[in-house]
Amino acid sequence: MNAASQTPRVVLASHNAGKLVELRELLRGQIEGLDVDTQVVDAGTVGAEDVVETGVTFAENSLLKARSVARQTGLVAIADDSGLCVDVMQGAPGIFSARWSGRHGDDGANIDLLLAQLSDIADEHRGAHFHCAASVATQSGFEAVEHGEMPGQLLRAVAGDGGFGYDPIFAPAELEGDEAGLSAAQISAARKNAISHRAKAFTAIIPHVRAALSKDLAQR
Ligand code: IMP
Repeated sequence: MNAASQTPRVVLASHNAGKLVELRELLRGQIEGLDVDTQVVDAGTVGAEDVVETGVTFAENSLLKARSVARQTGLVAIADDSGLCVDVMQGAPGIFSARWSGRHGDDGANIDLLLAQLSDIADEHRGAHFHCAASVATQSGFEAVEHGEMPGQLLRAVAGDGGFGYDPIFAPAELEGDEAGLSAAQISAARKNAISHRAKAFTAIIPHVRAALSKDLAQR
């Protein structure tokens, strides 16, 4: 066995470059228990194809992606699925967050529709949270899912030009003092990563990734 084949690889079941950067950052130094380098690559790099998200929960869709890429590549695969859940809308847009206005990924139209739907809703009823389900899967059938949430409040108009998705109309509850009331699009990426649903879910999945990598190595 040569050195390269001993380097365990973790594939992120996503073609989203931003998520890859975030995940590499989170995993850095957290898989030190294994005395080998861990490379994190995206699904495109290893030629894995997208899976159709037929699940009806964040956990199901996240696992579908991880399972599919693990089977296609033979690598330990990590995936996530996330969205915005509005209290007064019983958790919608939820798994439909990316295509709430009808067109996948049209952030501006999604925000406009949501603001219009909530126009008569008073401030004290504008609670919401982002939810993220992160999963890990291997070809041999090891699977785990963990969750993370970022609670907050929906604003009445867009504020800030950072972030993505619904960030400009979402004020995270964990921001205090000078930062209180700022939208997630008005804080730095590092600040958001410290409190985000995705960071919490990825942090929680890391022990399972370590377990998956150990099993993967033991089987070589
Ligand atoms: P996905 O997990 O990449 O499929 O994200 C689904 C959708 O949820 C995105 O297109 C956004 O509309 C929304 N979303 C998920 N996470 C965030 C976030 O951190 N900020 C803003 N919007 C988000």
